[in-house]
Amino acid sequence: MPVIRIFKLLPRGHQIAIGALSTAMAVLVMVPTESAQASRDRTERPVVEGAHRQLPLKVEDQPLVDDGLPDRELVVRVNAGDTLSSIFARNGFSSSLLHDISQLGADADQLKQIHPGERLTFFLDKKGQFKALSYPLDVARTLEIRQTTGGGLHSRIISAELEHRTQYAQAEVNSNFWNAGISAGLNPGQILSLAAMFAWDLDFALDIRAGDRFAVLYEQRYKDGIHVDTGDILAAEFINQGKVYRAVRHDDGNYYSPEGRAMRKSFLRAPVNFSHISSNFNPRRLHPVTGQIKAHRGIDYAARTGTPVVAAGSGVVVESGYNQFNGNYVVIRHDGTYLTKYLHLHQRTVNKGERVKQEQQIGTVGATGRVTGPHLHYEFLVNGVHQDPKTVKLPQSAILSRAELARFKPKAEQLLVQLDRVSEVMLARQ
Ligand SMILES: [Zn+2]
Repeated sequence: MPVIRIFKLLPRGHQIAIGALSTAMAVLVMVPTESAQASRDRTERPVVEGAHRQLPLKVEDQPLVDDGLPDRELVVRVNAGDTLSSIFARNGFSSSLLHDISQLGADADQLKQIHPGERLTFFLDKKGQFKALSYPLDVARTLEIRQTTGGGLHSRIISAELEHRTQYAQAEVNSNFWNAGISAGLNPGQILSLAAMFAWDLDFALDIRAGDRFAVLYEQRYKDGIHVDTGDILAAEFINQGKVYRAVRHDDGNYYSPEGRAMRKSFLRAPVNFSHISSNFNPRRLHPVTGQIKAHRGIDYAARTGTPVVAAGSGVVVESGYNQFNGNYVVIRHDGTYLTKYLHLHQRTVNKGERVKQEQQIGTVGATGRVTGPHLHYEFLVNGVHQDPKTVKLPQSAILSRAELARFKPKAEQLLVQLDRVSEVMLARQ
């Protein structure tokens, strides 16, 4: 790559800045190729799950109090500054009706949170007397208040069932993981979720390579054929440097391997989120100070000052201090075996003796101590010996209980079959 040759000719001080710039340029250059290669076949071949079912949503679909008089509908738009009482007064409804509604309880209390632009629909009889009121709470739910035959009021929430469709996205990584996600049609939240699912197995900041592939099954929610919401990732596969990782969502909201082992493990592979890391795909990573490869026993994450640094695992802060070499640094003891160190921090947000949870922020990336540019220097020690946190063998995570496994397995197998199909389609296209 010509970029690297230029890089070497420059004085050391400029390398970091230029490195970041060339990454950005490489990213820009790669984008069109990637969009072309990534496939996006969701409308042509959707893996449909569940049936389209719709419950009555509109109040007028149901018979109101039958007094033989035709109904009249009054649609009121909520304006800025409107309150329920101003709307009632403006449209000639009594304050006693308003009072009765306010006594209906939690469901009806949602009327107290009306916002400009929302819509209230009143149903009146021929004489203009109040019969019912409907207020959409969200895309699927409507609050309905109606007069009962006894003359009282009754409130309920009517839910329209949304149609769930399983859709898939897939891509091969060319420039970086983020771009591959975008080209596969995933939204930023889904890209972050996908990385979070595999954050205990893969260092998305430094280990993703060109040629890595992923396939994702996720849920889309529709109402009356119109897309209203993107749901969770149901299952995903990530092939990193030839190694296959798969995860399926269980109904407890967590992800498990096909065997039912929790994806969550004792240590994250990286203590910073990949989305903040400025360098991608540089296997010849140079140390920010010495300019050499593998200059010391740690991993350097070049990121902007202020980028959050999180605890790779839960434990106790055994050191939180400053010296001229490490700058601001934090050391966490996880148990008798594991210790992690975080150096050159801009800020430390934990104190010595403090207990921290996995993924809890402990500070921010900085350039304190003996450095030439902002980065996190991360060390992972097992029984006092430095190890590569990305390859070190860690204890296996817990497997689901027998009863949970019995619920997980059939659904997981079904999703994995679908994922296989997606994966095969992707391979066939290469
Ligand atoms: Zn370092």
